[in-house]
Amino acid sequence: MFIDDTIAAIATAPGEGGIGIIRISGSNSLKVAEEIFKAVSGKKISEYNSRTLVYGNIFDGEKRIDEVLVAYMEGPRSYTGEDVIEINCHGGFISVKKILELILTKDVRLAEAGEFTKRAFLNGRIDLSQAEAVIDVIKSKTDKAQEVAQNQLEGSLANKIKSLRLKVTEVLAQLEVSIDFSDEDVEDVTYKEIEEKSLELREEIKKLYDSAESGKILRDGLKTVIIGKPNVGKSSLLNSILGENRAIVTEIAGTTRDVIEEFVNIKGIPLKIVDTAGIRETEDIVEKIGVQKSKESIDSADLVIIVLDSSKPLTDEDLEILESAKSKKTIVLLNKIDLDQAIDETAIEEFVGKDNIIKISALKNEGIEQIHDKIESMVFAGDVKSSSNLVITNSRHKDALFKAYNSINDAIDGIEQRLPYDFIEVDFKNIWDYLGYINGDTVQEDLLDTIFSNFCIGK
Ligand code: GDP
Ligand code: ZN
Repeated sequence: MFIDDTIAAIATAPGEGGIGIIRISGSNSLKVAEEIFKAVSGKKISEYNSRTLVYGNIFDGEKRIDEVLVAYMEGPRSYTGEDVIEINCHGGFISVKKILELILTKDVRLAEAGEFTKRAFLNGRIDLSQAEAVIDVIKSKTDKAQEVAQNQLEGSLANKIKSLRLKVTEVLAQLEVSIDFSDEDVEDVTYKEIEEKSLELREEIKKLYDSAESGKILRDGLKTVIIGKPNVGKSSLLNSILGENRAIVTEIAGTTRDVIEEFVNIKGIPLKIVDTAGIRETEDIVEKIGVQKSKESIDSADLVIIVLDSSKPLTDEDLEILESAKSKKTIVLLNKIDLDQAIDETAIEEFVGKDNIIKISALKNEGIEQIHDKIESMVFAGDVKSSSNLVITNSRHKDALFKAYNSINDAIDGIEQRLPYDFIEVDFKNIWDYLGYINGDTVQEDLLDTIFSNFCIGK
């Protein structure tokens, strides 16, 4: 695709701030900037080295609009891979808006959402997985999630996909040669070699695919419900968890004003605690909305934390709560271990297993670290390591990997049955295509539009 127009947009968030940045990208960038900008030095922007900040003023004809710093980043070494101008002006609504309007009277149009990043992709500066990481970096809720997104932006997934596709190419090449020179002795060797490579490939694809569960949680948060009878210590627990962990509160756009999401950072995992407000005001879920409703909140949760008072015997209500969480990932907290114990642990083990029971004292802040460890090991289960920064966080990538995985299974079946080479070749061509969805090599134009429309304007 050939891009020849020049685009501009405000790159900073709207509102009052120290500075506002207007970004221009495309072949007219420098020309437009020279027209509206006068450096205090009297020199032209083009007389400075690329990527130098030049101090001066923006003029609309004779009228001075704002005092600014301008940087020219000559393509291809720029964000979009094209010639880019960035104008740093005073923050707030008026300066940026006036300068952008002035620019748009020239041969420049307003950029669409995500168009700068889309151009970086179309110009081959980054692959699609890197472009998609840009939005993840912006939206990441914990340091760990940001690290994973940052790594993807730097190309960790891009490189992995590249190396997997290289292996596919090698098999395809081998199949091509074998189709031309078939001979029974060679044939058997070929099948064995391809099979070996296929098994390795399957293993690698599976490992990536398996990381998607943790990845989704890192990206969207682990929807958690804290449940238990009144007075067992839910509010106290929440306070001790919140006490040491920065909570991030985001308002959900387009919903009623009272709806907020609260994230607690547990070892880099964003825990999205449902109905926090209710718990904090000691209007407990069970108390306030009854057992039926609390069952509903269990249904929509990824993780259920059941709090029990270990200084008291189990009641029917406790058992009912344990029963209703049976199909969910559950942690049972036996709170108040600082008091004399009266609870029947074996009865609880029957519901959740010994490993998922943790003894704590919310009051004395004991056992809280174990809760964190438990959550971490639940999220990063199996082969997925919490230290790994190559985690699939995007459902589109996950779908593509699933398709590639099915195709590699088909290929392996075919090899085992000693099907003709061209049958197996079809499967490998599919794997090549599916992996190409991830880096954008084989992706459709309309899908690109959908992906980039999720970005903000100016990115
Ligand atoms: P909730 O109704 O489940 O939210 O329970 P609260 O957190 O409001 O606690 C109820 C009562 O139990 C309060 O008086 C707390 O101080 C007390 N409590 C909470 N955790 C502990 C604990 O670990 N040990 C003791 N001894 N008391 C606790
Ligand atoms: Zn409470």
